[in-house]
Amino acid sequence: MAASATPAAVEEHPPFTCAQCGRRVQGEKPDSEGRCAVCRRAHIERATRLAYVPAVVVAALYLWLIAWSGLLESPMMAFWLVLGVVLGFVAYKVARRVFFDVLRGRATGDRPTKDGKG
Ligand SMILES: [Zn+2]
Repeated sequence: MAASATPAAVEEHPPFTCAQCGRRVQGEKPDSEGRCAVCRRAHIERATRLAYVPAVVVAALYLWLIAWSGLLESPMMAFWLVLGVVLGFVAYKVARRVFFDVLRGRATGDRPTKDGKG
């Protein structure tokens, strides 16, 4: 058996204190904000959940618009529906990116600076 599963990650990544939860973390690399993988995953999940709201709003507005303009009865209905899905997806991607930054600012930006470090 040549597969050697030595915990090399512990040596590669020195232990650090997570900037968000304050946990002492070993064997993993902090992200650009100095957070552990658990905090980062929670952050991404929150941004993803929030991004569904504008995506659904954009898709619903679009659906209302094509229904109102009578395009649902056109022979190109499938095309208009696909375009709506694409628009909703773009709104989802943009919103997730925006919420990611907004939540990051809230998570690490307005913490009281006890030690004088910004
Ligand atoms: Zn953490």
